[in-house]
Amino acid sequence: MTTLLIATRNLHKVEEIHAILGGQFELLTLEDFPAAPAVVEDAETFVGNALKKADTLANWLAAGISNLKFQISNPAFVLADDSGLEVDALHGEPGIHSARFAALDKLENSPDADNNAKLLRLLKDTPLENRTARFRCVIALVPVPEKRIENASPVCLADEFPTQIFDGACEGVIQLSASGAKGFGYDPLFVPDGFTKSFAELGEEVKHKISHRAKALEQLTQCLHGKTNASQDSRRIAVS
Ligand code: IMP
Repeated sequence: MTTLLIATRNLHKVEEIHAILGGQFELLTLEDFPAAPAVVEDAETFVGNALKKADTLANWLAAGISNLKFQISNPAFVLADDSGLEVDALHGEPGIHSARFAALDKLENSPDADNNAKLLRLLKDTPLENRTARFRCVIALVPVPEKRIENASPVCLADEFPTQIFDGACEGVIQLSASGAKGFGYDPLFVPDGFTKSFAELGEEVKHKISHRAKALEQLTQCLHGKTNASQDSRRIAVS
C-alpha cells in the first residue's frame, strides 16, 4: 500500500485529508515525525508554499536524520497542502496570507475569529452580489527516496519520480455574518455555490464532497491509481 506523509501540523487539515482519502493509503502525519523541521511559508504562491513544505520534509527524510519511528513502506510520498481563500472584491486577498490575515506583520497564524472579523470589516460596504470568492487548495506530492542517497545529484530522484501538483477550487460567496460551528478557518463565512448555508453549517458530509481540498485530493487519488497525469513541476528535487 502506498504511504503518504502529510506535511502539516494543522489538525483540521489532517482530519479532512483522512476523512476524504479513507483507507486507500497508509497515512502518516508530522505527529509521527516530531523532529521534522518547521517551514516558513514565505513563497508568493500556493504552489511555491506547497512545494517548499513538501521538499523540506522529503529532503529531511532523504538525509537520514529523521530517526524514523516507522518503517516506511514503499512507494512513499510527502503530501503538502497550501490553501486559502481568494476574495474577488479584495483582488484575491487573503490568498496566501489566509492563515495570518488579521496580523500580516507577524509570522505566526492569527486566530480564526480575528481573520473572519477582518474579512467582514473589509467587505462591510460590498453588497452580496459582489462578494464572490473561492477556496483554493494546491497539493504538492513529492517522492520519498527509499534510502539515504550519498552524494546524489540534485536531479536523480526527480528523474524517476517527478514532483506532482494538484489544484482544486470551490466557488462561493462571503456571507454578511458568520454562521455555523463546524469546520475551521473561514468556513462560517463561506457559502458554496448551489447552497444557502455556510460550510460551517453544512458540515463534513457536504464539504468533503465539494471542497477545494476534496477536488485536489480526487486528482491525486486518480493519479496515484494511474488513471491521470497531474501537472508535473519542472523544477528538480534537490537532495544533497
Ligand atoms: P495554510 O495552508 O496552512 O497556510 O493555511 C491555510 C489557511 O487558509 C487556514 O488557516 C484557513 O484560514 C484557510 N483555509 C484553508 N482551507 C480552509 C477550509 O477548508 N476552510 C476554511 N478555511 C480554510
